[in-house]
Amino acid sequence: MNEHFDLTVIGAGPGGYEAALEAARLGFHTALVEKDAIGGTCLNRGCIPTKTLIHSAECYEGIKHSARFGIQSQEPSVDMKAVQQHKAETIASLQTGIATRLKTAKVTVCQGIGSVVSDGLLVRVTAPDGTAFDLESDHILLATGSTPSIPPIPGSDLPGVMTSDELLSYDGAPFDSLLIIGGGVIGVECAGIWQALGTKVTILEALPSLIASLDRELGQSLKLSMKKKGADIHTGASVRSLAATENGIRCTYLEKGKEQTCAAQAVLIATGRRPYTEGLFSEGCAPATERGRILVNEFYETSIPGIYAIGDVTGQISLAHAATAQGLRAVRHMAGRESASAPLLIPSCVYTSPEIASVGLTLDEAKARSIVAKSHKILSSANGKSVLTLQERGFIKVVYEEDSHLILGAQLLCARATDMVSEFAVAIRQGLTMEDMADVIRPHPSFSEMITEAARL
Ligand code: FAD
Ligand code: AMP
Repeated sequence: MNEHFDLTVIGAGPGGYEAALEAARLGFHTALVEKDAIGGTCLNRGCIPTKTLIHSAECYEGIKHSARFGIQSQEPSVDMKAVQQHKAETIASLQTGIATRLKTAKVTVCQGIGSVVSDGLLVRVTAPDGTAFDLESDHILLATGSTPSIPPIPGSDLPGVMTSDELLSYDGAPFDSLLIIGGGVIGVECAGIWQALGTKVTILEALPSLIASLDRELGQSLKLSMKKKGADIHTGASVRSLAATENGIRCTYLEKGKEQTCAAQAVLIATGRRPYTEGLFSEGCAPATERGRILVNEFYETSIPGIYAIGDVTGQISLAHAATAQGLRAVRHMAGRESASAPLLIPSCVYTSPEIASVGLTLDEAKARSIVAKSHKILSSANGKSVLTLQERGFIKVVYEEDSHLILGAQLLCARATDMVSEFAVAIRQGLTMEDMADVIRPHPSFSEMITEAARL
């Protein structure tokens, strides 16, 4: 292929394919190179697979507890093959949607491994049959994502020890017990799924709290809620080794300076992800990196002029919508349309039960920036929709500037938190005050009435 492109994107995850679509919209002749399946980690091994499994687990729990709502049913059972079938159909349907959008936008999609082969902005594509061709471009966007990071724990290669890639494709009978190493977002979401399916779940987390990147109260409340449902959760517990036993795996970990052990039928290693750049650069063509992540400026330009990088490969925020937002900003900068460098406002969501969401500043973060701020917290126990659907107790906390009442951030732990957080994203983006938010008329009965209550001082 001797065509010249305005932009070649490497990696068709939510960062890469949305950036390619935006580039086409702006009139760029665009190529998109993908070595595997369209949709990247998010669609094939991440966001969508976890959420289909969560939905199946919620259906199971809903039927098990339906008598509380006056509906009698027989004891339900889990058919993991059918659960995986639903996941596969969901992915296929969304893949078709993306492929259609790319075709309509006239993006040239190339199947193969892309690598940057010269400073002259050339991408070599090695197709699955081993043949190679070059794409010459004015710009290159690297959007190659990330892969599970496995710490050097002895025994981590034993059968039955998995990363999220394998666990999300597991189609056998639910495990009797599952040990999860790492209590970050992926660890707790997988814990929620398997706990709902009846598996005895243990989480070992090295830091003092679960989901430690978010407000402390969210991690503490989640730990209490999961323990109440029977999970065994150890924070401040660092895993040392894994060993095979007759019917599973034994784990040795260090907690409060003491060596402890626990056992489970299977183990999930959820200790984070690392940027994926395997085979991406030929000799002498790599931009500056730091501990594997590609370094970029506020417009996502790397140290090589004309080469940009976005999403998980930059190791900044590992979220699909962050990768997309970064991709749009990078492409608009290439087109000379983006000059502002205001930080992106990215909501974080955790799809546990109850759901968790956060946007903007926590009170501690506001104080660390010397902002005179306060927070206002309400419980979900007086919300009609929460009571009638028998939701667990949750809360919404809003952080605002003391003088102006300008909204700075919000942390939510309640039903529909991952949808409701967007109201706070709009409020922060538009510079709304607590009074502005409280003035909005929200329908009754609805979970969103909690937002009105949280904003009313
Ligand atoms: P990816 O989605 O990783 O896409 C990169 C693509 O590049 C891949 O398709 C890969 O095959 C391709 N590629 C790599 N190298 C090459 C090469 N040399 N040539 C050609 N192609 C190449 N985020 C959320 O926002 N919400 C969630 O609910 C959520 N849940 C998650 C659950 C799990 C279990 C995991 C693992 C992640 C989850 N994430 C979630 C994170 C989200 O999936 C990532 O942040 C997002 O996919 C990053 O997008 P990306 O475009 O940077 O890269
Ligand atoms: P995240 O980076 O959000 O995906 O979360 C990964 C989590 O795994 C972090 O909270 C880490 O503290 C935790 N972690 C990493 N290594 C270990 C280990 N050896 N034992 C227990 N937890 C770990």
